[in-house]
Formats: sequence, C-alpha cells, structure tokens
Amino acid sequence: MQTGNQELHVGPASPGVDAWRAGAPEPALRLPFEPSILTKGAEDRLVLAEAPPTAEAAGVRVEPFVNPARQLRLLARFPAGAAPRVNGEPAPRLAVLAPGDIFRWAGGGSFRLALYVRPAVGLTPGAVIGKSCPVCRMPLAAGSTCYACICGVAMHCERDSEAGLSCAPLSRECPVCRRPIVLAEGYIDPPVHED
Ligand SMILES: [Zn+2]
Ligand SMILES: [Zn+2]
Repeated sequence: MQTGNQELHVGPASPGVDAWRAGAPEPALRLPFEPSILTKGAEDRLVLAEAPPTAEAAGVRVEPFVNPARQLRLLARFPAGAAPRVNGEPAPRLAVLAPGDIFRWAGGGSFRLALYVRPAVGLTPGAVIGKSCPVCRMPLAAGSTCYACICGVAMHCERDSEAGLSCAPLSRECPVCRRPIVLAEGYIDPPVHED
C-alpha cells in the first residue's frame, strides 16, 4: 500500500497541464517534500534546487505540506521585492498556494501548480484488516487488494470481479469524505475545490 500518493507539480501556466500530460519538451517539475528553491533560468524555465541553509535565497522557497483537512498545499516564500501575484492578484511574500493556482514573481513567466496522483492501490494493510469497507460493509481481508482514500478509509479494489469485490472501481467518490476515487495515475485538473 502506497502512502503519500499525491504530489505537487509546477510548470508553465501556458500552454498548461494538457501539454504537461502530453510529455512536452519542458515537463513540469515535481516538488519534493523538503524545502526547495525555485528560480527562473533562461527563457523563464523553472529550475529547482535544494534549499540552502540560509533563509533568504534568490528564488522562491517552496515547501509542500498537508493542511488539517488533509489537502496538499504549497507554502511559498517569495524573495524581497519580487512583487508576487497569485491568480492575477497581488500576493503576500509568504503565501499558501493550492493546486490550480497560477503564480508569477519579479516579472516574466507565469507558472501553475497542479496535483498529480498515483493511486493508492495495494494489498490490504494490516491496520485495516477486518474493518468493514464503507461501500459494501463487508470486512477487508488480508491478501485482498484495496484502495486507500487520502481521508484514510480503505475499500475493496479488485480489478477483476471474479477475484473479489470491486467497490472502489464501481464508486465515483469515497462514501466517507466524498472525494473522487482516482484509479488512474495523472493530473487532477481542473482541481477539485474542497475549501
Ligand atoms: Zn467493499
Ligand atoms: Zn475518503
């Protein structure tokens, strides 16, 4: 069972996420969970570097985090004098960005934040064996395949209905948190606004 199956990616706002999907020559950057520094290289190409120990760096210091509602967000600290804008509006130097947000700083280049999901499908983890599936109310058995929603709930997920229950593939959303069930790896765009 995978955990941390969501990632934040950042790339050019234009031509946009469809082009990232198509494997554009400049693919989006995956933001690691550690603090890192975004700078603009030639022709406003984004460059990602490990954050130096000093707090004040030349670029934008970014760090993904999970908020209390278990949503992935990006804490961005723009350099002094960068005049950041988020979705066209002036933004504070320290800003929380959500998937779908478009941001720019210090002139030139607009960038978009996107949510990339790798489905959490795997063998039933020990912690939920014997608990009931929220879709069919039958217990989750050891050795069967299940899908874990980011709210923490697990449900049956056999791809082949001969092999067992296919509760996740047959449901559009998690019955507990109402988030969509995502079984295909890729960008969720337009993003789901849960706020
Ligand atoms: Zn089930
Ligand atoms: Zn859920």
